[in-house]
Amino acid sequence: MATYEYRCVRCGTFDVKLPIGTAPKTSGCPVCGGAARRVYSAPSLTRTPNAVAAAHAREEQSREAPDVVSEVPPGRRVRRQPHPALSKLPRP
Ligand SMILES: [Zn+2]
Repeated sequence: MATYEYRCVRCGTFDVKLPIGTAPKTSGCPVCGGAARRVYSAPSLTRTPNAVAAAHAREEQSREAPDVVSEVPPGRRVRRQPHPALSKLPRP
């Protein structure tokens, strides 16, 4: 689905969601029912944040040539406390 923008001469602009490539040149205004012309505006493109781009690059490199490690890297060890409810479970 894509969002298409239309402008009614009396009511202003409104958006219509339609499958890509199916937007007609005119659409009925949801307020007055009159014909509204399609308006072409800049697409809302977003730039990938640097942290996400770096994670994607690391994942791609790891896919082709993974790093071989013999121990857990420092700072990666997480000591987690067991959930308190686990102590109440019956033991064999
Ligand atoms: Zn209208």
